[in-house]
Amino acid sequence: MMQQYMEIKNQYKDALMFFRLGDFYELFFDDAETASRELEITLTARDCGLESKAPMCGVPYHAANGYIDKLVSKGYKVAICEQVEDPSVAKGIVKRDVVRVITPGTLIDTNLLEDKKNNYLVSLYMSSLGCGFSYVDISTGELLSTEIVGTSIEQNLIDEISKIEPNELIYFVEEEDKIGTNFIEGIRKKLNIHISKYDPWTFEESYAMNQIKNQFNILTVESLGFSLNHLGINATGALIHYLKSTQKRTLSHINKINIYTFTEKMVLDISTRRNLELTETIRGKNKKGSLLWILDKTQTAMGGRMIRKWIEEPLLNIQNINRRLEAVATLKNDILLRCELKESLKQIYDLERLSGKIAFGSATPRDLVALKKSVAFLPDIKKLFENENSGLLKELLNNIDTLEDIQALIESSILDEPSISLKDGGIIKEGYNDELDELYVAAREGKHWIAKLEQAEKDRTGIKSLKVGYNKIFGYYIEITKSNLHLAPENYIRKQTLANCERYITPELKELEDKILGAEEKSIAIEYEQFIEIRNMLLHEIERIQRTARAVAELDVLYSFAEAASENNYVKPTVNSSETIDIKEGRHPVVEKVLENNMFISNDTYINTEDEQLLMITGPNMAGKSTYMRQVALIILMAQIGSFVPATSATIGITDRIFTRVGANDDLSQGQSTFMVEMSEMATIVNLATKKSLLIVDEIGRGTSTFDGLSIAWSTAEYICQSLGSRTLFSTHYHELTKLSETYRGIKNYKVLVKEDKEDVIFLHKVVKGNADRSYGIQVAKLAGLPAAIITRASHILSDLERESIQKEQYIIESTAENTLTASTDVANEKQLKLDDFIESEIVKDLKKINLLETTPMDALNILYQLQKKVAEI
Ligand code: ATP
Repeated sequence: MMQQYMEIKNQYKDALMFFRLGDFYELFFDDAETASRELEITLTARDCGLESKAPMCGVPYHAANGYIDKLVSKGYKVAICEQVEDPSVAKGIVKRDVVRVITPGTLIDTNLLEDKKNNYLVSLYMSSLGCGFSYVDISTGELLSTEIVGTSIEQNLIDEISKIEPNELIYFVEEEDKIGTNFIEGIRKKLNIHISKYDPWTFEESYAMNQIKNQFNILTVESLGFSLNHLGINATGALIHYLKSTQKRTLSHINKINIYTFTEKMVLDISTRRNLELTETIRGKNKKGSLLWILDKTQTAMGGRMIRKWIEEPLLNIQNINRRLEAVATLKNDILLRCELKESLKQIYDLERLSGKIAFGSATPRDLVALKKSVAFLPDIKKLFENENSGLLKELLNNIDTLEDIQALIESSILDEPSISLKDGGIIKEGYNDELDELYVAAREGKHWIAKLEQAEKDRTGIKSLKVGYNKIFGYYIEITKSNLHLAPENYIRKQTLANCERYITPELKELEDKILGAEEKSIAIEYEQFIEIRNMLLHEIERIQRTARAVAELDVLYSFAEAASENNYVKPTVNSSETIDIKEGRHPVVEKVLENNMFISNDTYINTEDEQLLMITGPNMAGKSTYMRQVALIILMAQIGSFVPATSATIGITDRIFTRVGANDDLSQGQSTFMVEMSEMATIVNLATKKSLLIVDEIGRGTSTFDGLSIAWSTAEYICQSLGSRTLFSTHYHELTKLSETYRGIKNYKVLVKEDKEDVIFLHKVVKGNADRSYGIQVAKLAGLPAAIITRASHILSDLERESIQKEQYIIESTAENTLTASTDVANEKQLKLDDFIESEIVKDLKKINLLETTPMDALNILYQLQKKVAEI
C-alpha cells in the first residue's frame, strides 16, 4: 500500500495528499508533519516496512471538509486520493487515485466561499509582445480573457489583478529577465495571492488553442471572438488545462468566454480604488463605510457579486450608462413595483452557484429543491414588467427563462424536504418511478406487517409491554422486560441481554425482516441512481439557468440602485459627451450617512476644460477638503455605473479615468517610502491622464521639505494645466499656489469657509470662491487634545516663521521672474525674433530696475504679468 501511496504522491508533489484508508483520510511523511502542525492534530507514526516509522496523521472522512477548508485557506493545495474500486470485490490492494485537487482558486462547495464575492483563479502569460490575462470563477462558470499590450503593462496588470482580487494565480513568463520574478513577488506581497509558476507547455499557443477548442466544442478559437495571436489564448488554454488536471471532470458550466478590452470600462488604478473606498475602507478593510455598503441593497447572492463588479468597472459608453439610468428611474419611481420585485428576488437562491454544483456533480437533492423554489418566482418577475416595451429592463426580461420544464421535473421527482445524504434514501417522490413505487409499498406494508406481528405476539404471550424494535446491528427483535421473562415462548431465540430486558428473534420475524430490508436497500440504491439521472438531465440545461441567473443578477443591481436612490434622496444625473461637470448641492454618499441628523453640508461643483479646469482648494485642516474632492469623484463614478447620485442635480461630461493622489501611505513591502509612493502615484497620473480624466490631487509634496514640496506642487499644477488639460481638484496648504490663478486662465481658487471664535475655529464645510489665508493647524491640534505647552510653543514658533515667510515669497517671485525670462528667451529663439530687440524693450528694462527686496509681492507680480503679456504679444 505504501508503494501505491508513493507512486500517486509522486504525481502531486506540490499538494498535501489525503489518502483514503477506510473511514479516514491519512497523510504521511512531510505532508503529515505539515498537516498536524497546521490543523493541530496528533502526529503518529506507522510501521510501513521502512527503516524508520513513517510520520502519519489522519482526519475522519465525514469531517474532512472542515480540515480541507482550513488548509486551503492557508494557501495549501489538497489532493484527495480515493478508493476507486469497491473494496469488497478488489483483488489485493484496493485501487486508489486522486479524484480532485482543491486549490485556493478552485473552491466550489465550501464555507470558504463568500456569497457576495467571486472566487477567481487567474492565469497570466507574459511574452515580449505583452500579457495574456484570463480568469475564471469555477463556482459560477464565469470566464473572462483579455490581453494587455503597449505601455504601462505592469501597472495595468496590477490594477486588473487588484480589481478582481483573485485567490490564486498561475503564470508563465517567457523572458524572466524582462518582467521577472521581482514583479511577480511584488504582486504576491502586495495583494496576498497564492501564486505558482505553471508548466510552460500548457501556455504554448497550439496546445492552448486545442484546450479551448475542446472545452467549447468549436473548430476555431476565432468563433469565440479571439483574434489570431491574441495573448489571451495562451492564458486561457493553460487555465483550462489547470482546471481539468485539478478537477478531473468536464466542467460543462464553463461554456462562455467574455473577451474584453480596456476601452469598454473605466480603468481604476489600485490607489484610486483604495482612496475612494469603493468596496472596503482604507483602514480596517471593512465593507461598512465603503460605497458598496451604501449602494448594496441586493437581494440575491448573484446580484451581490455583480454590484461589486459594476462599482469597480464604471462604463464609458454614454448610451449604456443611460440605459442603466433609465431602468433605475423606472424602478425608483414605482414603489409598488420595486417592493414586489424585492419580494420575488428575495426568494431566489444562488442560481449561478447551483448550476456550478450541477456541472460539478456535487448538487444535492436539497440544492435541486432550492433551484425549483427559485425558479417558481421567475414568472412573477416577468409579469411585473410585462408593460415594458424597450430598454434594458425589457432586454433583461427577455433573457429570463422561466425554466418551467426544470421546475416540473424537480417537482415531480424530488421530495419537498429530501434527506441531506444521497445514500440514505428519502429523495424521490412516489409516482416518479414504478419500480420504486412498488418497493415503497413493500417497505410501508412491512411496517404494517411488523405491527401485526407485534400484536399477535402480545396476544400469544399475554405480555402487554412486549414490543418489536429495530437497530442496525441486530435488525428487528422482540423485546421483553425482565419481569415478564418467564412468559417468553420456547421458540424465542435470545439475541441480546440489556439491564432491564432481553431481546429475541423468531424465524417468522427474520423472514419479514428480509422482505422489508431488502425492499429498503433496493429502494435506496434506485433512489440514488434516479437522483443522479435527474441531476445529469439538468446538465444540459445549465446554459439556460446561467443566462437567467445573469439577468436576475443585473435586475437585482438595478433594483439595488433604485432602492438606494430612494432611501438616500439621490437624483438621476445627466451623462453626456461634454467636458463639463456641473453638480448642484452635491454630497458625499458615505460621510452624509455617517453624520447624524442631516449634518452634512452640500456643495456645488463646476469644472470644465477651459476657465474652470483646475480648482485650487485651500482651507484649514479638518475643513472638509478631502471629503469634498472625493465626493466629486464618487458622484462621477456613481453616474457612470448607472446609479443615481447624491445631489439636487448633476451633469457629468463623460470621464475616461479618475485618478487620485490622496494622503500618505507607506508601501514598506515594496520598499517604498511615503514620499516615494506619493511621487510614483503622481507619475502614473501625469503619464496616463487625458483631457477627459478627472484628477484628485490632495496635498501633493508634503512628504519632503517645504521648498521641495512647494516647488513640486507648483510645477505639477502648471503641468496639469498646460500639458494635460485634465479636470482637476487640487487641494493644498501651500497658499503660495493660489497665485497660479493669476497666470493660468484655467486655474480657479476655492476655499473652505471657517468661522473664528476667539481662539477657536468653527468649520462650516462650505466651499466658495477665494483663497484661505491660514491653515489653522494649531487650532486643530488643540481640538485634537495636544497638551497646552506644545500648543503655546507652536504659536510662538509660528509667528517667528510667518515673519520669515515674506522673504520666502520674494524668493519664489524672484526665481519665477528668472524662469519667465528664460522661457521668453526660448520662445524668442523658436520664433527667430531678434533677441536684442526684446531685451531692449521697455518692460524688460523696468524689470531690471526692480529691487526685489523693496518691492511688494503684488507689485512684483504685476510686473511679471505685464512681462508675460508682452511675451504673448511678441
Ligand atoms: P486635512 O487638511 O486635515 O486633511 P480636510 O480639509 O481634508 O482635512 P476632511 O478630512 O475632508 O478635511 O474632513 C474632516 C471631517 O469634517 C470629516 O471627517 C467630516 O466628519 C467633516 N466634514 C467634511 N466635509 C463635511 C461636510 N460637507 N459637511 C459636514 N461635515 C463635513
